[in-house]
Amino acid sequence: MTPRAVDLIRRKRDGGTLDPCEIEWLIKGLKTGEVPEYQWSALLMAILWRGMTREETEALTASMMDSGTIVDLSMIPGRKIDKHSTGGVGDKTSLILAPIVAACGVPVPMVSGRGLGHTGGTLDKLEAIPGFRIDLDLDGYRRVLDACGLVLIGQTKEIAPADKRLYALRDATATVESIPLITASILSKKLAEGIDGLVLDVKTGDGAFMQRVEDARALAESMCRIGQGLGKDVVALITRMDEPLGKAVGNAVEIAECVRCLRGEGPSDLRDLSIALAAEMLVLGRAAATLEEARARCFQVIHDGSALDRFRRVVEAQGGDPKAIDDLTRLPLPRVLRDVPAPRKGFVTAVRARPIGHAAMLLGAGRARAEDSIDHSVGVLLNKKCGDRVHRGEPLCTILANADDAALQEATRMITEAFEVGESAVQVPEVILERLDYSI
Ligand code: URA
Repeated sequence: MTPRAVDLIRRKRDGGTLDPCEIEWLIKGLKTGEVPEYQWSALLMAILWRGMTREETEALTASMMDSGTIVDLSMIPGRKIDKHSTGGVGDKTSLILAPIVAACGVPVPMVSGRGLGHTGGTLDKLEAIPGFRIDLDLDGYRRVLDACGLVLIGQTKEIAPADKRLYALRDATATVESIPLITASILSKKLAEGIDGLVLDVKTGDGAFMQRVEDARALAESMCRIGQGLGKDVVALITRMDEPLGKAVGNAVEIAECVRCLRGEGPSDLRDLSIALAAEMLVLGRAAATLEEARARCFQVIHDGSALDRFRRVVEAQGGDPKAIDDLTRLPLPRVLRDVPAPRKGFVTAVRARPIGHAAMLLGAGRARAEDSIDHSVGVLLNKKCGDRVHRGEPLCTILANADDAALQEATRMITEAFEVGESAVQVPEVILERLDYSI
């Protein structure tokens, strides 16, 4: 007998559970119109309040994944491994680890997103490279992956279309902050890419969506369990996002920092996290037996130039200017540089990521609304990070802008307040807080 949406909404509202066939019917009904958006909106609110069991979340993820194409990458040899980050400020690890992992022989098919709120997005950063195209179709996606060992694109209309509809509804109905809904949204897209394994970077702290470590752990566990239940190897690192990762926040400026990292020159927090995530990917990809061996291989492909060469190759294959990788002045440059001086001598005790992310967005590096355009040249370059000694008047950071206007004044105020300078040095906590291994 065909279920009635109103009965399923009522059952969820009252704390009951839905069976996998009912969830599949609800997702199919979203596409056909049999379950209209107003009923899905009510159901989303019931899920937000009542939660979902593991079986329900798995069924929702599978149904959303099956709402579109599951890309077949079997013609490309090797285990395909991707990484997903829940988002942060200055978080550019994807663009460092993908060429490293590809250079070590593990294919990386990566479907990424745009910036969300105060956090940056991989696609926006890539588009800072003149000519770079993120809108390949699935044939182009396979071709570039085969030729370069990595591919970096945006979500296509074929991949998990139910997520696109549901995400827009969640955004409009205040139902984004639900662990089962976030799990199904992220995993349905990632599992449809054609991967064998996934490494998750679940961020916690001031600049993360999950500010409390308990919430980050609950999300990490949920994504690991559901991914494993659907037959994939999943490992999650829970990582600190209290201060921006690395020293660059913006788009072109972050691409430049990635290139420096691939040359072996980048800031240590960014390099260490990128290599930790890449090493997990190499183990899941069966290219290394242990994390120690995997880390050694990552350093090797940085030092012999093959990781940077992979990045150059993928840039060229996706229409970008490969010369920009060797001559960083070919990336978009800002017209105005403004230093923020230290108010006193001492030690930097905090560089709060969230206001820095908001300030970068205000300068034009991110979007307040989906339809806004981005200025790829603007952002913030940190000269000092938590734990560093400073002299009075020494630049804490440099703001990169294109006009000396009200937005620059406001961004300068926010960034100044984001830095705390104290009298004594603080112990800088480790970036990686926890590791969850759900590999099969
Ligand atoms: N990113 C996604 O893709 N989905 C969510 O629900 C949250 C973040």
